[in-house]
Amino acid sequence: MKPPSRTEASGPSMLLPRSGYACARCGQMRYSGDMKLTTVRSPQGDLLAYEVAWEDDVVRIRVRPGRRTQKRIVLRADERGYSISAPPWARSQDLENVILQNEHWLRAVHAKSVMERFERLQSGKHVLVLGQRYVIAVGPRGEDGIDHARRTIWIPAGVRDVHTHVYHRMRSFADSHLLQRTAKWAQRTGLHPDRVSIRDQKSRWGSCTSKRHVYLNWRLIQAPQEVMDYVIVHELAHLLHMNHGPAFWQCVAQWMPEWQAQRDWLRLHGRDLFRLRLDSETQG
Ligand SMILES: [Zn+2]
Repeated sequence: MKPPSRTEASGPSMLLPRSGYACARCGQMRYSGDMKLTTVRSPQGDLLAYEVAWEDDVVRIRVRPGRRTQKRIVLRADERGYSISAPPWARSQDLENVILQNEHWLRAVHAKSVMERFERLQSGKHVLVLGQRYVIAVGPRGEDGIDHARRTIWIPAGVRDVHTHVYHRMRSFADSHLLQRTAKWAQRTGLHPDRVSIRDQKSRWGSCTSKRHVYLNWRLIQAPQEVMDYVIVHELAHLLHMNHGPAFWQCVAQWMPEWQAQRDWLRLHGRDLFRLRLDSETQG
């Protein structure tokens, strides 16, 4: 985690309604039943940090003692990571409220920092395919494409832009494989979307609309099969429940009892999958 530059947010403390709150930055109403805020404490019980977990990501915010003259709670992102500091009068509830009110800001800063970790692919480098490391290599006989048996992505000799070539091979494999897996799960669960599209989404793994369209992020092709399957089952379950209530999770668990392990994988590693992109794509 390496936020691009120092940036700060702060906000007044206030009591929050349980179901939603306004983003302190843009005033937009946010409903994030998915966001979880937990504390990290030392063995002596001192508050060290907060952990903010969304469905697909997690961010750690260090708690720093504020200056005695400090007047407000400051949430900050700089090259050392995220931190929050407060004047001596502030209670932990006040700190939590500031974090909650700045969820939107946190997500945006975090997404931008991940996008900046861009890496150009070339022969000899590795790419994740279904959770396994595949090496990029020049095919001795002009091979071109993904070779699962040898965990290799072959590129023909003489390809000038290896990065773009590999990107498009990954992208087309993602399109066919994700559609095939979704068809399989639709049959198994009896939940059939009206349309399935594979997309280049910047901030989510999948979505399901009230028109019964399911969208999946092509970058899931880098995740282990079980993780991809979890996202598919998750979106199919939204055909029955358009929320994340207990009935929804029961539905997911019915088809995938281990869903929490897959969600944890996405939280831990999901952001790294966004490094694979065309270098013409704008950052942030
Ligand atoms: Zn959902």
